[in-house]
Amino acid sequence: MKARHVLGILSLAALFAVSAPWASYAEEAAKNGGSPINMELQQLDAEAKLANEQAYVVPDTLLAAFEEASKQYKVPRDLLIAMGWNESRLSNHEGLPSFENGYGIMNLVSNPVKQTLEKASQLSGLDVNLLKSDDKSNIMGAAALLAEFQKTANPGFRESPNLSDWSNAIKMYLGSENDELNVSYLQQVLGTSKLFIPSGNKVTIKNEIVISALAGKPVVKPIWKAAHPTNYATGNRGRGTITHLVIHVMQGTYAGSISWAQQKHDGPSAAHYYVRSSDGEITQMVKDKDIAYHARSANSYTIGIEHEGYVSDPKKWFTSTMYNQSAKLAALMCYTYGIPVDRSHIKGHSEYPNQTHTDPGSGWDWTTYMRYVKAWYAEYQK
Ligand SMILES: [Zn+2]
Repeated sequence: MKARHVLGILSLAALFAVSAPWASYAEEAAKNGGSPINMELQQLDAEAKLANEQAYVVPDTLLAAFEEASKQYKVPRDLLIAMGWNESRLSNHEGLPSFENGYGIMNLVSNPVKQTLEKASQLSGLDVNLLKSDDKSNIMGAAALLAEFQKTANPGFRESPNLSDWSNAIKMYLGSENDELNVSYLQQVLGTSKLFIPSGNKVTIKNEIVISALAGKPVVKPIWKAAHPTNYATGNRGRGTITHLVIHVMQGTYAGSISWAQQKHDGPSAAHYYVRSSDGEITQMVKDKDIAYHARSANSYTIGIEHEGYVSDPKKWFTSTMYNQSAKLAALMCYTYGIPVDRSHIKGHSEYPNQTHTDPGSGWDWTTYMRYVKAWYAEYQK
């Protein structure tokens, strides 16, 4: 057995010496100014550019609600729109709460560790149920909150249309104990306002920042933010014991989900990785070797990858950039731990046994995602 194994390695080495795949790769790369050549990735790039040409126009009724709340609480209209875009992509999810029990376009939250819904009700005098279900009230409540945060953070502050003058209030709206996360949230909100395209009385928002699949090598460098130790179990896993990937959708925002996993709470939960919709930024919160609590009975043998957004709103959240960056990560996991790159080993949360969640839902584009994963896997193998 052993001798045959050695022979196998020798003949494999001989094969490599003859065909020398890395030499042909290097030659090809040199011809192309150093970029990897992968026809599949070039094709995916072209498709992503086409998809990105669609921009979102804020509906008139919502625009009027943002304008009214802006006048009432002297919070810039475009700040409110940018916040709403970040929290919900301007969707009320037909009254269904986010994973953290947040409601409406502005994701006013009511849970044991965060009560922006109750606070908004106190400040605006609007009933909690109205704040949950009525778009106009929900936006009004959020404006009241932001005005209050601004007063607390900057006493003596006067009105300013400049969004960056609201930095502290924006950070307080997320309200994470981790200021790095608050700053990251702030940058997203300010970044969103730069995606606005002025067009008469309309506000149009570009849907995503497309990062070319061909830009750079398949490097994945997640930001590390540790989950609270109650949200995972220490393990000693690796090749052979990590055998599957679980694809999740957060039913909430990137910043909100990271903040949640950093805290201790009932129903412990965290995934290993979190991917952002707008630009595919990745945060790792649990080490691969450890067992994150994300998919019940499947936790012990899987790595969980969470994606920002909502199952009900795939077009606005599942950007080609997020698919691309997540696929780089998934391909790296497959390459590192010897996981086969197929749909029996890379599955959605709802496809594992005995799960109650429906993510990633029918809007998750498995065909595109698996094309990206396979294309990146081929790059790792070079
Ligand atoms: Zn899930």
